[in-house]
Amino acid sequence: MIRMLLLVALLALSSLEALAQSGERTLGIGLLRDRQLKQALVMSTRSASKVIADGVFMGELKSTDGLRIEIAGKEIAARSLAMAFTAKRIEVVPYGDGGFKLKPEGGKNPREYPGRLEATLANGQLLLLNSVHIEAYVAGVVSAEAGKDHHHEYYKLQAVSSRTYALTNQRKHLADGFDLCDGVHCQVYHGRNRNDSIAAAVDATRSLVIVDSEIKLIHATFHSNCGGETMNAEDLWSKHEPYLRAVRDTFCLSAPHAAWERRLSRSEWLGYLNRRFGFVATDSAQLSAALNFDPQCRGLYMQGIWPLIHLKHVREDLKLRSTFFTVSAEADHVLLRGRGFGHAVGLCQEGAMAMARSGRSYTDILHHYFANVHLVDLGTLDFFRDEGDSLRINGGAGPKPH
Ligand SMILES: [Zn+2]
Ligand SMILES: [Zn+2]
Repeated sequence: MIRMLLLVALLALSSLEALAQSGERTLGIGLLRDRQLKQALVMSTRSASKVIADGVFMGELKSTDGLRIEIAGKEIAARSLAMAFTAKRIEVVPYGDGGFKLKPEGGKNPREYPGRLEATLANGQLLLLNSVHIEAYVAGVVSAEAGKDHHHEYYKLQAVSSRTYALTNQRKHLADGFDLCDGVHCQVYHGRNRNDSIAAAVDATRSLVIVDSEIKLIHATFHSNCGGETMNAEDLWSKHEPYLRAVRDTFCLSAPHAAWERRLSRSEWLGYLNRRFGFVATDSAQLSAALNFDPQCRGLYMQGIWPLIHLKHVREDLKLRSTFFTVSAEADHVLLRGRGFGHAVGLCQEGAMAMARSGRSYTDILHHYFANVHLVDLGTLDFFRDEGDSLRINGGAGPKPH
């Protein structure tokens, strides 16, 4: 009850202090970590930028100039039309809300980034870090991850998910000296978003993040297509999350990744079951169970067979699109007919896209795939997290830190 009251208060609160906190939040994104960077060209966009070397102002980088940086022993050498120096740490700080363009060695087109750039050396490589406001980062992620031509409500959903993911995983690269990388390991980020619909969706959901009933940021996990039914988190990862519950989903059934097929020879299939799980067809009932499997709903194992055949392992070993499939015997072959694509926990992307197209709001979609979650302002979340300590001392029901 106290938790509910707290949540209502949290949803209602809009203190200036809280909003100010969320407005200032920046993230440090490690750029191009999949390359062994030795050299890069940095350019200003529109307005000029300040260039700072080891804390000392070196000059301005005009939008008509470029700063080439490269490894020189234990330092970084930098050269433009107007300056040349070496330093351990170089910052390019644009005036106003400008940004910078970056062209790595061997790269084709430069990418444009919002915010500032910091270059240092780490393990003999250039470490390029983009210090960027969270809202500009989220817009860049939605643009790179979702692509164009989606419904506005789908972009809003992606925006709150990406924002939540960024904060849940902010410590993922602590040891590397930044918050998140720009690849699939974290969230794909190729710099500034240029899509108006995405910009409007990020703006409309500004500062909103998804929390569970304990007011903890959720792991907004997603997959391509659930095949009609999502999975409980603990059935896949052995870790229970109250908001990652199995739900039925009719929205994705005619989407591009709704169905798949794989044909194997009978001996390949039976040989695999034998080698991997020790299965031996001791009688015709066992053989029939291995060759004809037709689950009515998602399960963890093939039915009627001993030893247990874990569908998760079958999917991994045979590189199947999902664990949700039937097996049927066909002469000397078996046909696996599957539904969906991906692990099926959390949000089904193709279902969510279809829900958005059919007129559902992004909050409806969110509540369809995640149980008992709420949207709260990031600033009020920070505010209540700070208050949490005293609340816990008084009543024991404050939000838990994480
Ligand atoms: Zn990463
Ligand atoms: Zn689905």
